[in-house]
Formats: sequence, C-alpha cells, structure tokens
Amino acid sequence: MSLNKKIQKFTRKFDVNYFGISDLSLAKDFIIDQGGNILSDFRYCISIGLKLPDAIVDQLPLRSNKAVAVNYRFHAYKIINDRLNYNTSMISSFIQELGYNVMPIPASERYDDERNCAVFSHKLGAHLSGLGWIGKSCLLITPNNGPRVRWSSILTDAPLRPTGKPMGEKCGDCLDCVKICPIKAFTGRNFDPNESREVRYNAQLCNDYFVAMTKKGQLPVCGMCLYVCPYGEKKS
Ligand code: SF4
Ligand code: SF4
Repeated sequence: MSLNKKIQKFTRKFDVNYFGISDLSLAKDFIIDQGGNILSDFRYCISIGLKLPDAIVDQLPLRSNKAVAVNYRFHAYKIINDRLNYNTSMISSFIQELGYNVMPIPASERYDDERNCAVFSHKLGAHLSGLGWIGKSCLLITPNNGPRVRWSSILTDAPLRPTGKPMGEKCGDCLDCVKICPIKAFTGRNFDPNESREVRYNAQLCNDYFVAMTKKGQLPVCGMCLYVCPYGEKKS
C-alpha cells in the first residue's frame, strides 16, 4: 500500500470533512518568510478541514445576542479547533511511527502579533492541495461549503503525492465580503501569490475591532465575511 493510501486510511478513522496533500516547494519563500527556517525541512503538508455548523454561522448577523455569540465561540471555534488539534496529533504520531518527521501546526493559533498571522497558513496548505481558492476575504473558499470550514495542518518530510493543484479563484465580480465587513478591512482585490496579504486585507483593523468589542464588555465575535460568502450559504 502506498504511503498516501496508508495515511488516508488512518485518517478515515477520524471525523474529517476535508483531506488534502500539497507540495510546499510551490510557495517555499512565502512559507519561510512567515514561519522561519524551522519549517524549511518539511516539503509536504497534509491539510484537514472540519465544516462549521450552518445553523450557528447563519445566526452571525444576530451576534450581539449573547446566546448567539456564546454558541458560535464554543461550537464553531473552540470545539472545532480541539477536534482538529486532536486529529492532527493522532495523524502526526502515526506518520512518525512510519519513520518520518512531522510538525503538527495548531489550529487557529496566532504566533506573530505584529503581522496577525500563524506560524503557517492553513489556508495556503489547503489551497495548494486543490481544496479551494483564496477569496477576496483572504479566507479559503471551498466550492461546496465556501469559507465555512476550519483547517489544521501537518507538515512532514514523508515523500507524499499531492492530491491536487492550486484552485483558480472563482470570486468573479462578487464583493459581498468586502461590503459586509463592518470596519472595511478588505480592499476587494483578488488573491495574487506574488502580493503580500496587506494589499488585500488590513488584519490590524479586524484585530482592533475585536479588541474594541472586548473592551465594551461584549463577546468578541464577527465572522460576517465568513457568513456572507455565497459559496457557503445554506443550500436548502
Ligand atoms: S471578521 Fe468581521 S471585522 Fe474581521 S474581516 Fe471579517 S467581516 Fe471584517
Ligand atoms: S464573498 Fe464573494 S468575493 Fe468574498 S470570498 Fe466569497 S465569493 Fe469571493
């Protein structure tokens, strides 16, 4: 059985909605610039994704209601991240037992407060593996569930086969996420791997908005860019 198949078979034991493998040499400079040389030994990335509960995301316009905010933070954030981290830990141990180096990357953990980013972009890994494109919201947009998916990643030196190619953007003329953002954090520009994120998204504005909510004694919840995307809206 090939290494890809062994890992896919093992992953099926867990509750994973999305699975993809990418070759990080396609974006090596960007990855080292963001996370540093500690990532340079890992050529491949395994991306796993869990779909968020639609009923909870659909209530985000009512997020000033504390019950809505509590439910979102718990079931669309904390528990999903816990499940992702458990799954990546188990898959990492399995690959290590096969004799390869692995580096699981925590879900939704920021490491650079100045640039408001994680040590590795889960969205980039999933994009390179063919699971979706980077939208004008800078979120990973999947064809069937839009941005309503949380991601986690395992970097490894195991010689894997990529499961797909980077998907071209399908935002077209849509500007829904740009228009709905309460603090106008997006410029409306399409993703270009040769441009920095700052050209499309002011992450500091988004961060400041969350800090302001906390200072006012509110639970910091927004996600309107995630809620509004037509690729993720409720199908029925
Ligand atoms: S989470 Fe809210 S404030 Fe932040 S970018 Fe999305 S829509 Fe804008
Ligand atoms: S809301 Fe529209 S522009 Fe924004 S990511 Fe989704 S499809 Fe693209």
